[in-house]
Amino acid sequence: MKRDLRLASLLTSLVCVSVVLLTVWQMWTARQNTLSDIETDTLNLTHALNTYTEGTFKQSEVVLLGLTERIEKDGTGPEQLERLRLLVAQEMDALEQLNSVVLYGAQGDWIFSTNKPASPHSNNADRAFFKHHRDNPERGIFIGPAILSRATGAWAISVSRRIDHPDGSFAGVIAVTISLEHFLKLYRTIQVGQFGAISLTSSEGRLLVRYPFQEQDIGRDLSPAPIFSEYLRKMSSGTVDFASKVDGIHRIYAFTRSDQYPLVTTVAVGQTEAMQAWLSQTKQSAAVVLVLLGLLVALGRRLISHISHRIRAENELRTTQTALIELNHTLEILASEDKLTGLANRRHFDQFLDIEFKRAKRLRSPLSLILIDVDFFKRYNDHYGHLAGDECLRIISQSIKQCVRRPGDMTARYGGEEIAVVMPNTDESGARSVAEAILLGIARARLEHLSSPFGTVTASLGLATYTTYDSEQDETALIDRADRALYSAKSQGRNRLSVAAAGMGLPVSRA
Ligand code: GH3
Ligand code: MG
Ligand code: MG
Repeated sequence: MKRDLRLASLLTSLVCVSVVLLTVWQMWTARQNTLSDIETDTLNLTHALNTYTEGTFKQSEVVLLGLTERIEKDGTGPEQLERLRLLVAQEMDALEQLNSVVLYGAQGDWIFSTNKPASPHSNNADRAFFKHHRDNPERGIFIGPAILSRATGAWAISVSRRIDHPDGSFAGVIAVTISLEHFLKLYRTIQVGQFGAISLTSSEGRLLVRYPFQEQDIGRDLSPAPIFSEYLRKMSSGTVDFASKVDGIHRIYAFTRSDQYPLVTTVAVGQTEAMQAWLSQTKQSAAVVLVLLGLLVALGRRLISHISHRIRAENELRTTQTALIELNHTLEILASEDKLTGLANRRHFDQFLDIEFKRAKRLRSPLSLILIDVDFFKRYNDHYGHLAGDECLRIISQSIKQCVRRPGDMTARYGGEEIAVVMPNTDESGARSVAEAILLGIARARLEHLSSPFGTVTASLGLATYTTYDSEQDETALIDRADRALYSAKSQGRNRLSVAAAGMGLPVSRA
């Protein structure tokens, strides 16, 4: 039962721990999967946005290429410029991202523009793109930083190309500007959350456009940020998460560098915000698991208390049972014992003799019976009092008991001051020696008895032995013979043993 209790406690604890571990493991796996999904989604988004950006710049490049060809071939006379204006107008109608197209002369002055210059003598020789083309003979396009258009007042990215004279010398720059609004219009349709952002940056880390749009962000140098200082050096596309140094918010960043233009598209999402769905699902699961655990613990405790209760009840029952057995044993002893002498009582003697007599007959073994009667005991009582008589009986009983040593023998109080000794499987000579020992023991006790002619307490003994040659059918005859032998001992002067003759023979007395 105690094992059941230990097993129940162990099982409850084991199930609880397993449920907790399983839940934690499941939550952790779900978290990792969610993170991985977010990373994949944002990375895919940067790929798509990068393709869109490359397409936009490719269109500008094609426009610039066409215009450069025409200008270098036809020149910039008034007629040619008029034709150019018509062509550009058509192209700007088709490509809505084009904010402006401007042709600069070798000194940075406006030769042609789709917008009115800010002032008639406006010069752009100070712009980065102009300096780049003037000082660099390469014919590729140059993507400049985001600028606030002097003509339209709108933020735009300039894309420019160098124009050469036939001899290869610098003739000017043709530039288009792409409105930032073109990118922002798309970025606004994408859900990146409260703490998310979409950025287009030059490959060196100069911010061109960012959503959510803030004017002060434009042109910001992001080159010290880990994406530019570390990751883009190793890979052209990937994801990374870290806490922003600016606002401390932990974000997941996905980035893709264009392999056609020096541009990087970055999408960032706030990690906590992106994990919101996982978090609320985890909270729900945790609540359900907690309720289940509570139920499990309650059930386990009930089971344990039930088992404990049973153990207690069983222990109590066992204690009661032991007490009852002990009580029974005591009662049994009390029922078969004589209170005064501690010897077997008469009832026990009768049962014992009956059983042993039958056994003796069956086994054809001898059985001896000695009847002992204290001499002049009435006088003893009269002389010393009844209590002293009791004490005397106790001493005599103990003295007799000490002479009867075999475990199979029985010494019983037969009546008043009469004691009987039953000795199974004992022949006459054996029984005689026991009887003589009894006589001697009483004599050695030297209990004073001044009313007796002997001066001390004495007893008379009658011995009868049953043998297979006897005609006796039951124990009554044996008792009768022993009794008559005792009577014989009394009548011959007391303080002696008288042995009954076998069968119906006459008793033989011995002083
Ligand atoms: P005898 O030598 O012929 O046996 O004489 P007796 O006096 O012993 O025999 P009797 O039968 O006349 O008296 C027996 C006495 O034993 C009577 C009774 O008072 C006493 N007696 C019997 N049982 C007890 C007992 O339990 N305690 C005491 N103190 N006396 C007992
Ligand atoms: Mg008597
Ligand atoms: Mg007597």
